[in-house]
Amino acid sequence: MNDLKALIRTIPDYPKPGIMFRDVTTLLANPDGLKSAIAGMAAPYEDHKIDAVAGIEARGFIVGGAVADRLGCGFIPIRKKGRLPWKTIGQEYALEYGVDVIEIHEDAIAKGSRILIVDDLIATGGTAEAAAKLIRRSGGEVAGAAFIIDLPELGGVARLKSHGIDSHALIAFEGH
Ligand code: AMP
Repeated sequence: MNDLKALIRTIPDYPKPGIMFRDVTTLLANPDGLKSAIAGMAAPYEDHKIDAVAGIEARGFIVGGAVADRLGCGFIPIRKKGRLPWKTIGQEYALEYGVDVIEIHEDAIAKGSRILIVDDLIATGGTAEAAAKLIRRSGGEVAGAAFIIDLPELGGVARLKSHGIDSHALIAFEGH
């Protein structure tokens, strides 16, 4: 997984001072890197009878669709407010300043189905926690959460654990 780490571009002070932006576009553009990232994200869930992957806009769509294909299950988009065409349910979550909202189609999740959350990176876990709430409010069961990158100092994996959700990330970076 050190190879994967080397394929990620770090952009200091983006989008604001103090943030080290972990840019996965350089990993996604590399054929071997993309293949091993998708295989690594799917591997822990191959025997978990996942019914669908829920990917979080936007980088969670890229890896989430590929993970779903690999697991032989469907894909459900979780999008920023106002982007989905059918009836939705929404979930607010806190940002550093203010709140944001993500949405899911109200009929996207079959009752009792086992859903895997996928995104490129987990930081504070606020986005993934909101996704988990949407899935549970829709009648689904959160079977796990998979990420390429974890920023452990921000506590997202522990936050999901406190909601009974186990996460897997392929690599970790220090700091924010
Ligand atoms: P959080 O809700 O704090 O776990 O933030 C996770 C979301 O924000 C993911 O969709 C990430 O793509 C994005 N994100 C947060 N921090 C970073 C970072 N340092 N580099 C790249 N993306 C980030």
